[in-house]
Amino acid sequence: MSHGQTNSLVEYTHFKTSVLEGGILLAGFDYFGKSVNVLNVESMAEWQKIARYAEQSPAIKAVVLVSMKEGNFCAGADLEQMHDAQQQRSFQAMEQLVITAHTLFDAMERSPKPFIAAVEGACLGGGLELALACHARIASTHPKTCFALPEVKLGILPGFGGTQRLPRLIGVPAALDMITTGKTIFPRQALRMSLVDGMVTSLPSTVRTLEHIQKETFVHAAIAQARARCSAPVRRPPLPASVRFLSAPVIRTLVCQYARHQVVKRVRHFYPAPLCAIDAVGKGRGLSVLEGSLTIEKPFLLELMAGPISSHLVGLFLAGEKVKRNVTAVPGAATRIGVLGAGLMGSQIAGQLAEKGYEVVLRDVSTDILAKAIGRIHKAQTTLVRKKVILPSDLRYRMMRVTPTIHIKDVNLASLVIEAVSEKLDVKRAVLAEFESDARPDAIFATNTSSYTLADIAVEAVHPDRCVGLHFFNPVAKMQLVEVVRAPFTSDRALAQACGLAKRLGKFPLVVNDGPGFLVNRILSRYLVEAVIMVSEGISFQRIDTVAKNFGMAVDSGHPMGPLELLDLIGLPVALHVLTSLAVLGSRIESRDALLRKLLPEKSPPITFWKAEKENRQALDAVADYRQANPSEAGPISDEILHQRLFFPMVDEAVRCLRDKIVEHPWQVDFALTYGTGFPAFRGGLLTWARHTMAQGQIAQELESLASKYGKRFEPCTGLSSGGW
Ligand code: NAD
Repeated sequence: MSHGQTNSLVEYTHFKTSVLEGGILLAGFDYFGKSVNVLNVESMAEWQKIARYAEQSPAIKAVVLVSMKEGNFCAGADLEQMHDAQQQRSFQAMEQLVITAHTLFDAMERSPKPFIAAVEGACLGGGLELALACHARIASTHPKTCFALPEVKLGILPGFGGTQRLPRLIGVPAALDMITTGKTIFPRQALRMSLVDGMVTSLPSTVRTLEHIQKETFVHAAIAQARARCSAPVRRPPLPASVRFLSAPVIRTLVCQYARHQVVKRVRHFYPAPLCAIDAVGKGRGLSVLEGSLTIEKPFLLELMAGPISSHLVGLFLAGEKVKRNVTAVPGAATRIGVLGAGLMGSQIAGQLAEKGYEVVLRDVSTDILAKAIGRIHKAQTTLVRKKVILPSDLRYRMMRVTPTIHIKDVNLASLVIEAVSEKLDVKRAVLAEFESDARPDAIFATNTSSYTLADIAVEAVHPDRCVGLHFFNPVAKMQLVEVVRAPFTSDRALAQACGLAKRLGKFPLVVNDGPGFLVNRILSRYLVEAVIMVSEGISFQRIDTVAKNFGMAVDSGHPMGPLELLDLIGLPVALHVLTSLAVLGSRIESRDALLRKLLPEKSPPITFWKAEKENRQALDAVADYRQANPSEAGPISDEILHQRLFFPMVDEAVRCLRDKIVEHPWQVDFALTYGTGFPAFRGGLLTWARHTMAQGQIAQELESLASKYGKRFEPCTGLSSGGW
């Protein structure tokens, strides 16, 4: 058949096919009804038919698999289908899908006809396992092209043969690293580690017809690769000697032990999936890929999939998809953004914006401050160059997109401005007034405040409808949550613009209603305040943080962290500000300001609780000093009570937030706490944890008993015992 002619044998729902000159079957994956390609019973059945047809038809000499979706090769298994199975506790269909995948991928791999994956866009999980079963992979340099096996983040392990094929392709150490962390690999890194066989520069294109796609440079390269492999077998260059050495049988056991050690160091024993994945890699040696997949990988997968941890993690993942889906597209989305304030947050936000292609005007009050901010942005981007994530030319373009200025008039062309100036109400109001006096008539003002309400800041605004909150968390590059704050006066357009911007930055824009501390800081403050009260009672820093770490706090960041370590990270001045301003919530925020102020000596840096991983001597002295003037004793206290004192008030506050309609649904609380505070994801979120581990009414009862012993701040709200949250 000639170029571009559609294969007339069968029409598929999720694939488009075309047979090109020389018998190259071009298959375009285009899952019907979803924005990304997924592997489920339906799409796998069609791919099986295509692969069989290719196998059996003498006219077909090779297959090139490409995606019709812009920016996505394949997102992997269909998680909605998996979550349904988990909720219904019925896994037969999932097991059948896994068996089909194993036999089909095995048949592709053994086929004398080459299968080539032309990868543009995200190639994740089962999608990467599909590409691994091909004889070669060609990657495009499209900005969204990346590779990952993120299954451990969903509480499972790669289940379509990834634990068996990946170590054979890139060696055991690199495979274990990818599988146990779920880390993302970009095209240049992929090429270096032999995950792909070629990388081709290509320009992103939105025209997604098979006729058009086959003209793309990376598809050309894949077709050429297919033709070459038809005429003569292509030998893959061997892996470097060091990788082969570390993948050799005896050494492999040691490498697996080391990987196990690394996992436990990072996530303790909270997550079984990465440890099972290491076992699957280790035990697969000496078996064929198919045997290893069916007899080792599959039983692990089914066991993990049926457990509560995976169900919680998949639930949180789907909640994130819901958050992103809620963002409505707005015409004329901003491309030029102003950032007011080039401090810790403003410089990070400006860097993120430049990274995503925005033109940024960064304004502060002095050129010295701006120079330091530009230095910080440059340093962060240089790290990406060093890690081979971006090219030096990308760094230059990104830096060129940030224009520092001390003049407010330079910001007036921006259609959206993010305010990240010092946390002082009069400064914020003055900045808003100054901005409004000279801004475009439709420009939106988004504040990053963490302790004032939007209503407080916009009280004198001329155009309050254009004011919205965009509450980023620190560190901006890592924290995926952004609270998008809506006050009664915020217009739908301002809200949509703010959500759209956060989404384009790759964040989860969770819309919350205006109120002190919004959602995350309001709930978190109960936890932080209690930790400080415990310090004031003479309980050791070590004990307080250990109780929280044993519960899993911040384990997902790879750095388990208790509340005092978190206070050190936030910085005491910011924390004190937030806690003090939340006093408006009433007697339940009993901020020990006097103690915190002892840790904030004038004219010298704040004293942290921890220094070089030890309790800071200076902080211990400051606490002793405070306790002498304010004696209070908790008496003997069990870890169980410390645990209750830290976590039960958070549940109480979350229920109050629902009652005050800060957000509408309990799943939004779960999502926000997991992504905004380091609440351990394996517990499914704050309210899911409370519901699943305690009988209805139990938390309220325990809080009442804490209130009788430790004070009014523990008194539960009325809705806590009645459930419904
Ligand atoms: P910062 O003190 O590091 O930076 C504030 C910057 O604002 C300073 O560089 C200051 O010179 C500048 N500034 C003051 N007045 C200005 C004006 N009129 N025009 C332009 N710039 C001006 O503070 P930060 O930690 O970056 O916090 C900024 C905002 O972000 C605050 O509202 C804070 O509550 C919020 N926030 C902070 C964190 C955090 O962890 N630090 C997290 C989330 C939100």
